[in-house]
Amino acid sequence: MSREERKAKAREFKDQFPVQTALGVLELRFRASETKAPRAFTIITTAMHGAHQEAGSSQVIELHGSIRRFKCIAKGHYLSAMELEKQEAKENEDEALSGVKKTKYPTCKHKQAANGEEGTMCNSTLRPDCVLLGETIDQEAMARAELAASRLRPNDICLVVGAPDDSYPAAYLPELAARSGAPVILIAQDGAASVKAMREACRSDPKTFDAPQDTQDPILHLAGDPVDLLEALVDAVVSREALQQANQQQTEESQQAQEVLA
Ligand SMILES: [Zn+2]
Repeated sequence: MSREERKAKAREFKDQFPVQTALGVLELRFRASETKAPRAFTIITTAMHGAHQEAGSSQVIELHGSIRRFKCIAKGHYLSAMELEKQEAKENEDEALSGVKKTKYPTCKHKQAANGEEGTMCNSTLRPDCVLLGETIDQEAMARAELAASRLRPNDICLVVGAPDDSYPAAYLPELAARSGAPVILIAQDGAASVKAMREACRSDPKTFDAPQDTQDPILHLAGDPVDLLEALVDAVVSREALQQANQQQTEESQQAQEVLA
């Protein structure tokens, strides 16, 4: 792919997934601005499109799974969309060579037995690894999300981007972050009702705050276009990075000047 084609593809992706693109850039700048040990930057999402990973986000917890991943019905063996594509291409080739028709549905070719040695092929039907109507949320992903939210500290931030999901258990995560002492910032065009609900949920727990309730509010609502607001956050992180570099340069110069004087 040529440079121009890559640029056009990136533009197309940004138009389709502007929030995911902005969050990918925010993580990149955030990591660059961390002078000490870098802190975690975790995305927790109920979206199933897999665009966060494509936008460069490194830690993504997908509460409803992903349409870019498959698993077999019998044992839950996983397969990425790319691996499945390769498997399908090979089966099409085999079919063309032998004339024997392949199975109608993609099946699991997993062969590993429990002891780690090669066993018989699983052959169970593959399905997309996402939560379908009537199924429960991915418990393992939810446990990881809860752990990430409860590990936040007062100098961390919990960003809730876009119209918040007011269905539990996902809606519980900002509360968990607030209880850990982290400020919760809701970035949404219109989220006043959600902020009110979040605030009340946090305040219903007496352990949430030590200070009188009216002096400490853990929920801040930035009302506006989420993409514009995220881009403003990126600018703020870049300014912090520039300030840190300028300070470091100044310190080095004054040290050199002192050495010269000595
Ligand atoms: Zn399987």
